[in-house]
Amino acid sequence: TELLAKPIEKIRTQLEDLQKADASLSRIRELLSIKPKITDGPGAPIQDGPLAVEFQDVTFGYEEDSPTIRSLQFLLEPGQTLGLLGRTGSGKSTLARLLLRFYDPQAGAVKIGGIDIRELKLHDLRRKVALVTQNIEILEGTVRENLTMYDETIPDSRIIEVLDDLGLHSWYASLPLGLDTPLASGGGGLSAGEAQLLAFARVFLTDPGLVILDEASSRLDPITERHIEHAIDKLLQDRTCILIAHRLATVQRADRIVMLEGGVVIEQGNRAELAADPRSRFHRMLAVGLEEVPV
Ligand code: ADP
Repeated sequence: TELLAKPIEKIRTQLEDLQKADASLSRIRELLSIKPKITDGPGAPIQDGPLAVEFQDVTFGYEEDSPTIRSLQFLLEPGQTLGLLGRTGSGKSTLARLLLRFYDPQAGAVKIGGIDIRELKLHDLRRKVALVTQNIEILEGTVRENLTMYDETIPDSRIIEVLDDLGLHSWYASLPLGLDTPLASGGGGLSAGEAQLLAFARVFLTDPGLVILDEASSRLDPITERHIEHAIDKLLQDRTCILIAHRLATVQRADRIVMLEGGVVIEQGNRAELAADPRSRFHRMLAVGLEEVPV
């Protein structure tokens, strides 16, 4: 019995640990189940090319009874550019997260290409809707895989052409294994400008039907800045785009403007009309020559 005492004691404490672990696991499950689960849709087919975007009376809150976005309604035609304006905390990123289905609305519907996004496979949705921010989401894998999202039909010559066009020639030339170089996860070694330009390269190569561009709010060096400006111009041609804009100059490229405040649209319309309407907030922003959208 002396001999067995130690192992039995060990098993007993391990069992206790297991029970504790199980208890916290179920608590975690409980917490998680408060949020409605995002489940894969049945897989409605979705067209190629630029997609229409529609928010139909969308209400959403991170907590059930405090809506962050209220009765949001707008329609963007395929190929149009929407300039999304609003101070910090007005709900711009939340709108982007709803489009990518990180959350589902509590009321209303989000549609792309005329289809409620809950009808789509998540994989299809996230292939069709690209979010471009200063922090490119880097996948485990090579530069090639990161830029093509594992689409092997895209030839290397096309990748290199896109990189050249974005002014990334010397970055590419410095890669020890060329396109086979692993792109360290976490973006290690990439400058903010490079990361953003690579996100653009991914868009040009994978050609999603909708691009949400969260414009960099921090200043980059003038050369990178110029390449990004050029990339934005190119991106907007023949693509549906939502521009979360921080500079008024960027908004000048939009066909339509939606101005959010506290999760509510306080102004929306055709850019030219809003600019011409002396009562509009957009007009006033232009009139005082604001360079940046107020935060
Ligand atoms: P914007 O992008 O315009 O700065 P956000 O969409 O990030 O605004 O935020 C809108 C509101 O939602 C803010 O009040 C913010 O505090 C809140 N919010 C944002 N993300 C979360 C979250 N994950 N959980 C709870 N509240 C959030």
